[in-house]
Amino acid sequence: MTIIFLGAPGSGKGTQSAILSKRLGIPSVSTGDIIRGVLKSGGEKAEILKSYTESGKLVPDDLVIDLLKDRISSSDCSKGCILDGFPRTLEQAKSLDDLGIHIDIAIDIDADDDFICKRTLSRLVCPKCNSVFNSATEMKPKSEGICDNCGSHLEQRKDDTEETIRTRLKVYKEKTLPLREYYSSKGVLHSIDGRKSLAESSEDIFNLVKNA
Ligand code: AMP
Repeated sequence: MTIIFLGAPGSGKGTQSAILSKRLGIPSVSTGDIIRGVLKSGGEKAEILKSYTESGKLVPDDLVIDLLKDRISSSDCSKGCILDGFPRTLEQAKSLDDLGIHIDIAIDIDADDDFICKRTLSRLVCPKCNSVFNSATEMKPKSEGICDNCGSHLEQRKDDTEETIRTRLKVYKEKTLPLREYYSSKGVLHSIDGRKSLAESSEDIFNLVKNA
């Protein structure tokens, strides 16, 4: 089964994708996490990627498609996966079609810009296991600044500044919103309200997936 999460950056795709991954037993694949992994290892490719991520722009399609292809060819994705943050352009969506990947369901998480901006500014991430927390919501870590899952010190993402968030939202509207229409015309698009509580929205998502 292949599931796609659409929705603006900061709408909760990563959190919902991680919850669903545990419930379904298939991996959550985040191109943002893959890219941050390359940035950490450094080198020429990292420098190129950094010039896009730090300014809130999308990494060019050919680069991100190669990274995604590499990841989903791993054996843990043989029964499917949940794509978090891919595709983000029509070109990327078409690359999945070209690979013969059937999308069972595309879930769009809907929330307005101010809500997203406020929530993203208090987001905390674990640099070691990529878990996501939020110091201003029900997603607070149990111990302040420490990852519940691996005990590492939580950090703010470099691209979680107000200026970069606004750029990412603008890019989202230009490049990613048209994907709603793309997946709606394939009959697989469902939308959920991103402002609901985590428990409510994750239940809504699970029910949609069960019936897909
Ligand atoms: P995310 O963690 O999904 O918010 O992604 C962080 C950053 O990585 C984005 O702002 C983009 O610069 C880049 N990125 C992640 N996924 C993609 C993608 N599918 N296409 C292009 N750039 C991406």
